[in-house]
Parts: sequence; C-alpha cells; structure tokens
Amino acid sequence: MKPLETHRDTLLAQAVRGAALLGTGPVAFDWLFLDLNSYFASVEQQERPELRGLPVAVVPVETDYTCAIAASYEAKAFGIKTGTMIKEARSRCPQLRIVLARHDVYVRYHHRVLEEVDHHLPIFKTASIDELSCQLTGKWREPENALALARQIKAGLARNVGVCLTCSIGLSTNRFLAKIATDLQKPDGLVALHPRDLPGALMHIVPRDVPGIGPNMERRLREAGILTFEELWQCAPKQMRGLWGSVQGERLWYALRGVEIPDEPTQRGSVGHSHVLAPEQRPAQFAEAVGRRLLLKAASRLRRMDYVAGAVSLSVRLASGPRHSLEARLADVSDSTTMQEVFTRLWTELMEQTAHAAVKKVSVTLHRLTPASNAEQLSLLDRPRVDPQAAAEMKAKRARLSAAIDQITSRYGRDAVTTGIVPGEGSSFTGTKIAFNRVPELEDFEEVLASFRAPPQRDH
Ligand SMILES: [Mg+2]
Repeated sequence: MKPLETHRDTLLAQAVRGAALLGTGPVAFDWLFLDLNSYFASVEQQERPELRGLPVAVVPVETDYTCAIAASYEAKAFGIKTGTMIKEARSRCPQLRIVLARHDVYVRYHHRVLEEVDHHLPIFKTASIDELSCQLTGKWREPENALALARQIKAGLARNVGVCLTCSIGLSTNRFLAKIATDLQKPDGLVALHPRDLPGALMHIVPRDVPGIGPNMERRLREAGILTFEELWQCAPKQMRGLWGSVQGERLWYALRGVEIPDEPTQRGSVGHSHVLAPEQRPAQFAEAVGRRLLLKAASRLRRMDYVAGAVSLSVRLASGPRHSLEARLADVSDSTTMQEVFTRLWTELMEQTAHAAVKKVSVTLHRLTPASNAEQLSLLDRPRVDPQAAAEMKAKRARLSAAIDQITSRYGRDAVTTGIVPGEGSSFTGTKIAFNRVPELEDFEEVLASFRAPPQRDH
C-alpha cells in the first residue's frame, strides 16, 4: 500500500473512533460554514447601487462568447447561472446587465468579510474567495447559541460590509455537512443539519450535489446503478471504497454521517502575515509593535490549525528601499510567549543591521510546520539544559496563556491583547486597521478563473 493510502487509513481510523461518539448526548454543532451568495454579483450591486434589484451577470472579458462567472439572484430567476454563455443569457433576459469582473474589488471585500467574521468567531479556513469555515467550541456548540451566532454574523456583514453581501450559513458536526447545509437554502440561508436528520433531510438532492462528486464520479456511480441520494446512502463503507477505487470513498461515507475527518497533510509549509506601514508607523519602534502583532496573529492561526512551527523569519523593507531578513529555528512550538522571545531577539539584531532606519513593510512568517500531534517535543529553545520537568511545566503554562489570548481575541477582537508598547496612543495609529487576515491566495482566483476557461465542473 502506498504511504499516502496508509496515512489516509490512519486518519480514517481516527474518524471512525470519533464516529462512535456521534448520535449520543444532546444535539450540538461543531462547524459553521459560510458561503456568500452570488459573491461577485453581490459586490457589484453593493458598489454600484444602480445595479441593485436588477439581473446582473459578471464576465471575465467583454464578449458574448464568454460565460458568466457570477449571476445576481435577479438573473438566476431567468435561469442564468455561473457558467451560462453570455450569448444565451442575453437571449433569456434581454435587459441583463453585463459587468466586467474587478478582482481587486472582490479581494478587498473578501478581507472585509474575513475581518467581520473574525470579530464573532475565529476563522478556521477560507475555502475560496467566498467560502469559509469556523469551528464552534464550548457553549457555541449548543443549537440555540450556534444559530444566534450565525444570525449575528449575518447582521454584522450587512452592517459593516454591505447590505448586498448576503450569505448562506450551514451548521453541522463536520465541515462537509455544514457545507452541504449552505446549499439547502439560498439566498440568505441558515440551516442546521444534524446527522440525526439524515438521510431524510437530503433525500431531495442528487449524488452530483454532494461535494466531491463531479461528472466523472457521477458517471461511475450511474454505471453502478446509483442514481439517487438514497441509493448512495445505502452503500456500505467498503462498497464506497470500491466505487471510488480508494479510501476516499470510505472517507465520504463517514463524512456523510457527520464525522469530521482531519484534512490530509497540508501542502502549506508556512503561515505568514505582512503589513505595509503608513508613514506615521515607520519609525522603528512603531514598526516593531506592528511586527509583534503580525507574529501574534500568525501564532494564533497556527494554533487554530493545530500545527507547530520549526522556524520563524522576520523581514523588513526599509523606507529607503533595501530589504533585510533574519530567520531563527524554533523547537516546534506554537505558543505566543516563546515566539515573542525569539521575535525580540531577531528584531534587535535586525535593527542593529539597519541602524534603526525607518521601515516601510514588515513581514513575519512561521515555517517548517508540522501537526502538533506529531511534535511532542519540549520547547527548550536555546536552553537545552533546563530540567525537563520544569520545561514541561513552562510549556503547559505557555500553552494556557496562548489559549487565553486566543479566547480573549476571539471574543473581544484582535486588538484586545497587546504586548509591549502601544505605539502613539491617541495618535492616528490606534485607529488604523492592520490587515491581519491572510491575503487570499492566488490559487483561490486561479481556481475560479480556470473553471471558466474549461467547461464548468466540480470534480478535482
Ligand atoms: Mg457562494
């Protein structure tokens, strides 16, 4: 068996153990999935009020021989959707407003959406430019609280991002079902889908509506006589494995039953943030505070991913042009205290190198990421000779402190916890928002664009 298959089997085995717990105890939800409705078209309607209430199609290029990359709900009423050829769309709806895509604007709104959601709940993962997932913990797992939180997020988006930015939110015990739940009510949906409601709640969907079942898999299922959701549901795990030709099918069997199956090892080797400083933030001591905040944000994201880092790099671009970088090894850690100690050392050294020159841009990146579960080493840093018992206690203490920071920032906002100086208190700096959330990766757009170059399909 190939190593990847073995690894997938291990993840599956973990999931199966988790499955034993489902279906017992009170109903609770672990995941919130948010999908913005008709994202590009909604942003255009937000930006250009004259388009509100009208059928709008967003296009990548100005020609009738392209297809819509988004359609407003008013356009959807005419049967126009993502992938519809513009020539055909015009014939269905002569008054259709065709709008050229402005990806920079969509990225800007993406950041605003992330920022708003992050005020309510830490974001676990952005799946694409218009989809994200959050993990629910503690009392937020309770159905009433989870639903209230979802409504709060919707209200916050309308208030702080734009009234046209509606979304469908799904709640479930895993990301997979939570995502399916977002498809059950559109636009502006809110659906809690518990495995106990299955298969009944999904009897009206077809196998092709299930994420991960694209045209090719749909054809294979059809050849095997599986045409309805119920027929798919009746398959045994091993039969699913056979149909898929890999453990992927068996993973889907568990996913459909609400079991959260851990992601396969991430290809991502780093987590990082950078910030271009406004002129008043460029003096070195202000830049240091910004760098520190970027580090804390990256560390908190790392913990959310349940990863540890083996190295951190700090780089600055000076206002005068040159770039300086330094990197330090970390002993597979994710706690903010250790990271800050290393940051202080790197920053001091970097400032010596640059003679405390004005800084235009700061970037902080955590590298050599491994799942926390695989890295049970002590965070000894540069003090390998400390007593292991004391080191273990120190590590536990730091982990508790980091967890407390995460809890406070998720509840009260990312600026609730600051360490070191608060630069220019009362000056314009405090009102300046730092773009902490990750820049949507280019792949997110590449994916969207590629899907319009090729015939639309959801397979991968
Ligand atoms: Mg969407």
